[in-house]
Amino acid sequence: MRINIHEIPPSGKDYCLTKADSWVAEVINRAGFECYDNFSSRIHVVRNRDNVVFSGTMNGGIKLICSRCCEPYSFVIDRDFLSTYCRYYERRGAIREEVKLTKGDLDLTFFNGEEIDLAELLNEQLQLAMPYRPVCREDCKGICSYCGKDLNFGDCNCEKRNWGLKLSSLLSNVTPGKAGIQD
Ligand SMILES: [Zn+2]
Ligand SMILES: [Zn+2]
Repeated sequence: MRINIHEIPPSGKDYCLTKADSWVAEVINRAGFECYDNFSSRIHVVRNRDNVVFSGTMNGGIKLICSRCCEPYSFVIDRDFLSTYCRYYERRGAIREEVKLTKGDLDLTFFNGEEIDLAELLNEQLQLAMPYRPVCREDCKGICSYCGKDLNFGDCNCEKRNWGLKLSSLLSNVTPGKAGIQD
């Protein structure tokens, strides 16, 4: 959904986005996520000459795959964001001097023309909300790299078996005299 920056009134404009908006569902699907029904995002947009500032919240459940046990789980998004769009001036490839960057402008995007695509903003914020390494729970034990068993449902015998193998190979290298082992 594209918004024309000249149609933003001085008091700003509010948007309430839900999964019922087909383009919102499309952004989520395109980002590769499966979403539970309660996804919503509230955005307040204000314009200060050529700078457009979006402040908003994003809430909802997204289906992710745990990086340890490979099982799907619901990741709860609860995020506040602030994103500033600055007009990009192509003249000499420079940004007009009056755009002064401050600490608060770290989340800065440049745009051309008179429109900004809310889908682009939503996609960006969605990606930022995602964990770097998704885990279904902090103490997820993952799967055994030998037999593939999900260790959250109980231990397998691989570790014991490997220790047994290591121990017997160690013992076979030991000569009875040195180790003091006698038959
Ligand atoms: Zn897990
Ligand atoms: Zn195992």
